[in-house]
Amino acid sequence: MLVFKRSAAAALAVALAAIFLFSFGLAGIAAASVPAEAFTVVLDAGHGGLDPGVVGGTSKVKESEINLKIVRELEKLFADAGFRVVLTRKNEGGLYGLPTSGYKRRDMQKRREIIEEARPNAVISVHQNNFLSDRSRRGGQVFFKPNDASGEALAAGIQARLNGLSGQELSPLRGDYFMLNCTEYPSVIVECGFLSNAEDEKLLLTEEYRKEVALAVFQGVLAFFA
Ligand SMILES: [Zn+2]
Repeated sequence: MLVFKRSAAAALAVALAAIFLFSFGLAGIAAASVPAEAFTVVLDAGHGGLDPGVVGGTSKVKESEINLKIVRELEKLFADAGFRVVLTRKNEGGLYGLPTSGYKRRDMQKRREIIEEARPNAVISVHQNNFLSDRSRRGGQVFFKPNDASGEALAAGIQARLNGLSGQELSPLRGDYFMLNCTEYPSVIVECGFLSNAEDEKLLLTEEYRKEVALAVFQGVLAFFA
């Protein structure tokens, strides 16, 4: 279900062209072949600056770094396919200004402002999971806002592709998170993998796997738009 009916035809053209081009490995020419800026996605790399998020159990890698790297891969995929792409965080810094008290609130508020200004068709907030009481848990997990049919459909599309990558049968979950509640645009939180799981951590440290995760998320979003 599309939120902006006005652009539904253009959106479908973008999605189908992108699927076609990706199927044939011609992503590079996609930008020239589909209507520019027919569709907008906001890509939100979780955490940053004073807030590293969770850290890898073995490598101590910061979640914030992996989030940004996956967002940059997603940015390339969406931009090559002709989407207008808006990033919240573009570097390792947070969005809170000075590192003074209340920084987390200011950081989240800034993310909300960027989303509202962009008027996106989808918001993808990228995170990594952590579950210390069961380190065997692994794979991508997508969250959506309760009673948000568009968000749920978007989450289902992405979850299916991530399940394909991890070989698991996880369902998207309802989540009560600021990044979902702060906007009425279809939004999801994508926990790409578990930094508490040694296998996921090892994979997420490689560029090759991060590209695979990004491609799975991208294809899931296209399935939602189509
Ligand atoms: Zn996180």
